[in-house]
Parts: sequence; structure tokens; C-alpha cells
Amino acid sequence: MAKRSIFDSGRSVRSGGRSAQARRSIQKVAIIGGGPAGAAVATYLARAGMDVALFTRGKRPPIIVGESLVPAIVPFLRKLGVEKEVSSYSQFKGGANFLFTPDDGMGFQFHEVPSIKTTYSYNVPRDRFDDTLLQAAKKAGAHQIEHSAGLEPGDGEHLRLDEASREAALPVLGGEPDWIVDASGRTRLIARHLDLPTTVGTRKDVALHAHMEGVPMETLGNVHTDRLEHGWGWRIPLRDRTSVGVVIGAEFIRKFGNTAEEQLDAFLQTDATTRRWSKDAKRITPVMQYSNYQLRTHRGFGPNWSLVGDAFGFIDPVFSSGMLIGMQSAEALAEALQSGSDRALVRYQQFVLRNLTVWQRAADHYYSGRLLTMFRVGEYVRHTRIGRLMDFHFRRHMPRIFTGEGATNRYSMGLLNFMCRYGLVGNDPAELEIR
Ligand SMILES: Cc1cc2nc3c(=O)[nH]c(=O)nc-3n(C[C@H](O)[C@H](O)[C@H](O)COP(=O)(O)OP(=O)(O)OC[C@H]3O[C@@H](n4cnc5c(N)ncnc54)[C@H](O)[C@@H]3O)c2cc1C
Repeated sequence: MAKRSIFDSGRSVRSGGRSAQARRSIQKVAIIGGGPAGAAVATYLARAGMDVALFTRGKRPPIIVGESLVPAIVPFLRKLGVEKEVSSYSQFKGGANFLFTPDDGMGFQFHEVPSIKTTYSYNVPRDRFDDTLLQAAKKAGAHQIEHSAGLEPGDGEHLRLDEASREAALPVLGGEPDWIVDASGRTRLIARHLDLPTTVGTRKDVALHAHMEGVPMETLGNVHTDRLEHGWGWRIPLRDRTSVGVVIGAEFIRKFGNTAEEQLDAFLQTDATTRRWSKDAKRITPVMQYSNYQLRTHRGFGPNWSLVGDAFGFIDPVFSSGMLIGMQSAEALAEALQSGSDRALVRYQQFVLRNLTVWQRAADHYYSGRLLTMFRVGEYVRHTRIGRLMDFHFRRHMPRIFTGEGATNRYSMGLLNFMCRYGLVGNDPAELEIR
């Protein structure tokens, strides 16, 4: 059972008699996992002159989810010095479409959003994207250690790399690291090791993911989020193919076959929306299956470790927030580790927890049908006189949330929550809930 930490309350910023202002000197860092979050932390810390051992493990699956990036990620790509390379193999993404029913939906282009800072983004092939970020980390001076890192208990919540991992990183770290960053994604190495308390969301779906050719899109380049008769699906255009996924109840999808391939192929021919676009489409990869749970760890750091990216929390694929949270948390963690103070680490923890909570709330609005009902109401209200008066204000705040820029803006999120609760003008959200 995990020990209760002073940070569980979120009130105190003192640790084991240490002043919140006390600073550790962190020079040698082990980062477990070379996905986007781990590679980004490695880049920032190596640039700051730290000795960084970045553990990566083996081959990854042929295709990986996390292909649709929100515009708020683009400034991070610039900071990491990779935007030009990413743009050379990625699909330019100009906006987002939401389908409510097979015949009803809405979409918006990022450049139409008032006051938006970044008006575009990219849909990326994850294998190449991850490689670009890893190379950037190495160029900055981080050392890749091709070894599946393991942990062993230290003193209390103090953690140690296991012997084989210490050995593998010896040429870089010369012994024990001062700090261990868990960027192992949904493996959640440290959270599992310490059995850290978590909050689990209500959805326990399955996601089936494949690449296809010949998938029609309503708006070229846009990410398409389609509400289906059961669950929802994505169509993410890549340069030469389309990433397709369905997120659906585990029990329900089992009816469609014994393998993930059988299930996705049969389901696409059955649902009224997917049937339309999959008629002439061809699957060109195996189908990858993910369990689509929602999970947030309550704490983001301990005496000599911290969590980042999905290893800290994973909310939901619906708004493509995962990679943004990974990038934001990577930068914030690198700053906190350079400071070395508990106060900076508490601030980091609060920042990520707030981010996760905000996106969880937005995802809840989507699954309950409230968000799509509000979008639908908005489409007709904006043509009324009062609607025209309010339109600019709503357009300024609502879409900015889904570009990632407004997600941490208290007013924008407050407005979204208020409208999802009180702005449905008598419409029953159950009509558009995700079943
Ligand atoms: C169905 C689904 C669809 C999604 N779609 C999107 C989307 O369109 N847009 C978006 O922004 N987000 C999306 N996400 C979320 C996104 O995939 C994640 O948020 C993102 O990959 C997190 O990055 P990360 O670096 O934290 O973890 P990961 O990308 O999972 O990287 C972790 C790395 O750590 C490695 N690792 C694990 N254990 C060890 C170990 N012991 N030693 C060494 N290495 C280790 C793993 O092999 C992996 O390479 C989706 C998620 C799901 C489940």
C-alpha cells in the first residue's frame, strides 16, 4: 500500500522537514521511456547541461496512436527545434470536424478562431515523429540507453534503478542518478511500483486502430471525430493514408469477431456513419487494440523521482490532448528540475493535475452528449439576433479550448462548463450521448 504523502493534501509545500525553498542539486538524470514526453524532457535537461541517460526499449508496434496534434503543440515543436522536419513528412492540419449523427455535424478552421496564436497543426506518423524527437534529444547531448529500465526499492519512497539498468547507464551517469523521471507512458512504471493512488474515469472502452487508404473526408486535412451509433470514431488524414479508429464498449465490439481485425472490419461495414466512408476504403495495416481507460495519478513526484506524460495521467483520445499534455508537462518538469526546489515541483504537480482535470471535464461533456448538443444549439442560435451579438464572444473562447490554447484559461473553461450545463435550450443531451 502506498504511503500517504504530505503532497496528497495539495496544501503543504514542506517535505520531511525540508523547506519548500530548499534546493536539491540535480545533475545526473535517468529518464525511463523515449516517447514524446521523455525525449522532450531529455532535450531540455541536456541543453541545461545535465547528464541525461534516456532509456528506450525495443521495437514499438508498426503504428502508434497519438497522430493528431492540436495547434498549441506547435510552439513546443519550435522550442525543440523540430518543426521543419516534422512538417516535411506530416499532414498539414487546418481544423476539426465533429459529426453528431450520420447527417449532422459541424467543423471549424483554426484560423477563424479570434485571437488564436497558432492557426494550424499537423497530423503525424508517430514512428517518424518519435524518432525526430529522440534525435533532437541526442543532438542536445542526451545519451540513449537501449535497455528496458527496471526499478528496485530504495529507502521509503526513494527509488533506485535496478542493477542491470545502473550498469547500462554507468558510462553516462557513473553510478546512481540524482533523479529518475518516469516517462514510460501507460506502463506507469513508478506509479505501479509504489502503488500510487489514482483517480479512474468512468469510461472503459476499447480502441481499435488501423491505417486505411481511400477514406473520404469532409474537409481536407482536418481531424474528424465521428459520433457513431455505438461509441465514436476518428479519421485522421496522414500524407498518404488515413488513420482510422473506433472507441467502443469492450463487450459490444466482441460481437463482431474474435480478432481485432475481424472486429474492426465488420464494425465499419455495420455502423451507419462508418459504412458510408468505408465502402471503398482498404485497410493496409494490422489493427492495434488499446484499452481506453482514463486514469490520473494523484502525485507527480517523490523524494528522487517524478512522473511525466501518460505516466502521470492519461485522459482520453477524444480531443487529442495527450501529446499536448505530454509536451507541456515535459517543459514544466524540466524547469522544476533545474530549480530543484520542492516549491517548483509542487507547482509542476499542480499544473499537470489541473490540466488533466480540465481535459477530463471536457471529455465528460463529450461522452454525456452535452458538448455536441451545445455545438448543435450554437449552430442555429448564432443566426438569431441575440446569437449574432454573442457569437464573437463564443467563437473566441470555445474553439480555443479544443486547439489547446484555451484549455488552461479559467474563463474559457468556465464558459464551456456553464454552457454545457445551462445552455442547451431545453434539448435533451441524451440524444447525442456516446453509448
Ligand atoms: C486510442 C488512443 C488514441 C490517441 N490519440 C491521440 C491523438 O490523436 N492525439 C494525441 O495528442 N494523443 C492521443 N493519444 C494519447 C497519446 O498517444 C499519448 O498521450 C502520448 O503517446 C503520450 O506520450 P508519452 O511520451 O507520455 O508516452 P508514450 O508515447 O507511450 O511513450 C512511452 C515510451 O516509454 C517506453 N517504455 C515503457 N517502459 C519502459 C521501460 N521500462 N524502459 C524503457 N522504455 C520504456 C515505451 O516503449 C514508449 O516508447 C491517444 C491515446 C490512445 C489510447
